[in-house]
Amino acid sequence: MDIGEIDEEFDTIERCLGVLASGSPDRTTESEWLHMVDRYEKLTRLAFAAQRLPLARLAEAGPEAFGGERLKAVIANRLRLTPAQAGHRLDHTADLTPRLSFTGQDLPPVLAHTAQAEQHGLIGREHITVIREFFHHLPADVDHRHRDNAEKRLTDLSLTMRPDEVKATAKRIAAHLNPDGEFTERDRARKRSFRMGAQGVDKMRTGSFCVTPEVGAYLETIFAKLAAPGMCNPDDGRASTIDGVPDPDAARRDQRTPAQRCHDALAAICRDALASDRLGSHRGLPVTIIATATVHDLQQQAGIATTAGGSLLPIRDLITMAGRTRHYLAIFDDHDSRPLYLGRAKRLATTDQRLLLCATDRGCTFPGCSMPASMSDVHHLREWADGGTTDITNLTLVCPTHHQLAGSGPHRWRTTKSSGGRTRWTPPRHLDPNCKPRTNSYHHPEQPLSESPTRPP
Ligand SMILES: [Zn+2]
Repeated sequence: MDIGEIDEEFDTIERCLGVLASGSPDRTTESEWLHMVDRYEKLTRLAFAAQRLPLARLAEAGPEAFGGERLKAVIANRLRLTPAQAGHRLDHTADLTPRLSFTGQDLPPVLAHTAQAEQHGLIGREHITVIREFFHHLPADVDHRHRDNAEKRLTDLSLTMRPDEVKATAKRIAAHLNPDGEFTERDRARKRSFRMGAQGVDKMRTGSFCVTPEVGAYLETIFAKLAAPGMCNPDDGRASTIDGVPDPDAARRDQRTPAQRCHDALAAICRDALASDRLGSHRGLPVTIIATATVHDLQQQAGIATTAGGSLLPIRDLITMAGRTRHYLAIFDDHDSRPLYLGRAKRLATTDQRLLLCATDRGCTFPGCSMPASMSDVHHLREWADGGTTDITNLTLVCPTHHQLAGSGPHRWRTTKSSGGRTRWTPPRHLDPNCKPRTNSYHHPEQPLSESPTRPP
């Protein structure tokens, strides 16, 4: 089949779905509606299974095929999925499509039984998530025969059971395969993680962690001292002290829950690490909190500052923090958003330039990119090799992925500055025949939506 024939088949399916969705049989009973819902579900499952092959081929191509951009980002942008959704889609595909061995031989999918059931539209994504999760928690030394049996059993159960029911059975199978709950170093190391979620509307973050026994022991030891009643209590103004023993009066007054005390202990540890100066520098800037705010907000002790890491920080918190450790603060005039003052410890020009870019660009300037300033490189708008200077007017922030897309060649994005000081990215002709420049509004939510679409086609 060529792509023209494939497109014709897609057209046929879409036409049929349109016909189905617009018409309903006369005098339909509830059981007939249920029958229809069931058949639609099977179509959805078949469509997901059919998408695996092209996704697997794309995954083989490597980032060079997409101008250095990772496939997860390409898929997320093209299909308008969250990066996490795109990541799941690709992870599932990697386990459900045939693999190539090192010697170039075809190998069956990692989850061969599951893949087969999916191809027939018999199981859905949630079933697959349960089965993959089961193997994620299974010790690495469970042999192939037992793994294969377990996968077949879970797939068979998925044909007639809901994902939550399969999950319950999966737990029992896991206990049966590993009755003593024994896990090796490798099993534990594979599962370690620390995830901090995005800020909520109240600026708080939630997250999850799975720490090794070693890290657990560190935390336990630290909490035993610093999370004791009366220690590191922000209500006492003692929060920056991590020495000594708690004052008995302070301990009596302490109304915090154990979880709140652990939180405050963690804050004390982080503050101590940042104040120690032992963390050196990162991307040319000292490891410290870099925040930007306006004169008006500082005077009013209200409003929100932005950090180089992309966090929104209430001004009141910023002022409290500034009393304890040395931070960099860029203050803006409210009218033209030009930095008026940069507090600093060193007079190195490059540090000043980076600080200024943290304050003005706030993060990667590529259209649609959410990478914060702390994860971005400094880029010469006019390339150094082409005679570009290291002047602030010729510098901007770009994350490493998008840095590779910039340049002067015919397949590269060109970078310039708008009159308002924003970096404009002009796409190469093969991506947009009109070569219309775009800017990134992600880091500037307070600005009106003036400058054109921000997403590449
Ligand atoms: Zn970027």
